[in-house]
Amino acid sequence: MNKLRIGVEKFASCSGCINEIVYALLSDPQIMEKIQIDYFPELQDKNNFEGKFDIFLVEGSVVNKEQIERLREIRSKTRFVLAVGTCSAYGGIQSLRDRTNVEDVKKSVYIKPEYIDIEGDVYSVSEIIKPDFIVPGCPVNGDKLLTLLRKVVLGGGEITITESLCAE
Ligand code: SF4
Repeated sequence: MNKLRIGVEKFASCSGCINEIVYALLSDPQIMEKIQIDYFPELQDKNNFEGKFDIFLVEGSVVNKEQIERLREIRSKTRFVLAVGTCSAYGGIQSLRDRTNVEDVKKSVYIKPEYIDIEGDVYSVSEIIKPDFIVPGCPVNGDKLLTLLRKVVLGGGEITITESLCAE
């Protein structure tokens, strides 16, 4: 049986939820037996974004056109998208700048603001696409995420995908 193809994408964030995602994906031998992490640049050097995925976990809020397109692409090629953490679920701390002038923010924070690729508003994942699950928390609770993954990957949840439909 094909293993479930897993991807993890990080947008604008402090990366605090990445640690919890690593914990949720790698701490349970039963889950590890069933999955294959094909895309997770924060964790591994070799990554493959091509083809369809069974599950994508998304951390961070969406802050520019490139990320909007990337998120749409993830949605179009993935069976289950999980918005992980408060940045991803609601916009998080980055969204504090929504009512300010983004150029003023860049100048006040960065020595070389011209290199900072952020645009006007900050978006949560669900403002751009429809995720299948939203798991907020700052950082997300790794045990809660693990419980959800167990239900999805091993069974017992309303939504269970125990067999990959992705071609090798
Ligand atoms: Fe960091 Fe909190 Fe955002 Fe997670 S939700 S990436 S811990 S700021």
